[in-house]
Amino acid sequence: VESTLVLIKPDAVARKICGEIISRFERRGLTLTAMKLLRITPEIAAKHYEEHREKPFYPELLEFITSGPVVAMVLTGPEAIKIVRTMMGPTNPVNAPPGTIRGDYATIMTNNIVHGSDSETSAKREINIYFTEQELV
Ligand code: ATP
Ligand code: MG
Repeated sequence: VESTLVLIKPDAVARKICGEIISRFERRGLTLTAMKLLRITPEIAAKHYEEHREKPFYPELLEFITSGPVVAMVLTGPEAIKIVRTMMGPTNPVNAPPGTIRGDYATIMTNNIVHGSDSETSAKREINIYFTEQELV
């Protein structure tokens, strides 16, 4: 089995659709193995998105991700990383088909509802940013 880090981003928390999003992952068969509500500090954001530091959208990305509370969770199951990414849909909601989370809830790139780790390496790195060993059940 694999574990992946998922964030329900500030836009989704503000829209009160956390339950709906968590339900989709649970219904699919993934297991919650850690979860918390937190406000991402600029320091955490910089760590999380370090690969995008030089990108033109970086300031907007940091401003958005720190704009309100997020739900961070670890989902575990067979091929969890790929399954979550497929369920999320493409980064740009314009390209996200109905049935995907972004395709059902989002219209613009910045406010795209969810984050999911994109590889095993990112998953390990990102889980460590948000959770201690003891918080993983
Ligand atoms: P995430 O990492 O949030 O799961 P992703 O892996 O689909 O999304 P990345 O390429 O890692 O996409 O980009 C991280 C985030 O940066 C995206 O979710 C999006 O909000 C923002 N972003 C990416 N590319 C652009 C862009 N060209 N313009 C504006 N925002 C962008
Ligand atoms: Mg990414």
